Amino acid sequence: MTQSQSILRVLRIILKRLFQFSLAVLILGFLIPQNLNMPVKGATAADYHPQSFWFYPWGKSVTHKGVDIFAKQGTAIHSSTIGLVVSAGEIGRGGKYVLVLGPKWRFHYYAHLHEIQTKRFQLVSKSSQIGTVGATGNAVGKPPHLHYTIATLIPYPWRIDQSPQGWRKMFFLNPISYLET
Ligand SMILES: [Zn+2]
Repeated sequence: MTQSQSILRVLRIILKRLFQFSLAVLILGFLIPQNLNMPVKGATAADYHPQSFWFYPWGKSVTHKGVDIFAKQGTAIHSSTIGLVVSAGEIGRGGKYVLVLGPKWRFHYYAHLHEIQTKRFQLVSKSSQIGTVGATGNAVGKPPHLHYTIATLIPYPWRIDQSPQGWRKMFFLNPISYLET
């Protein structure tokens, strides 16, 4: 066997192992149970509109890709799942926000916070306070609330429907259906 042949053989083995490893990580991510926690302390179904998700029309966003949970400014927000904070900071529409990667390769986006109480690369559990309810970003001047979105990294094309921007439903999941189970 020539040298280049043996290098190729080693490369093939490495690639195969990498593939198996990635597949295992992917599957493991799906196996982590989700069971969402209500992120706003003390909030119940009475604190959000049952048709909040995909409400249309919704300004520049066209449709509302999450749920707005209303509470007094300063109310504690806990992570709804275990996960890793992948980003936290301030952006235009969202204001102060926290983005957590949780089980099943789903992102959990918490926006309009009054205060951020976590940081990037922090591991969080359901008992971790990540911030407080506020009215930052495009919620300025509106009653304080948490905007909460769940988006999946792996698309669910069977959830696409005929609603405005309905194709995006392969990425944006209805948080209400998870909060009420
Ligand atoms: Zn919202």
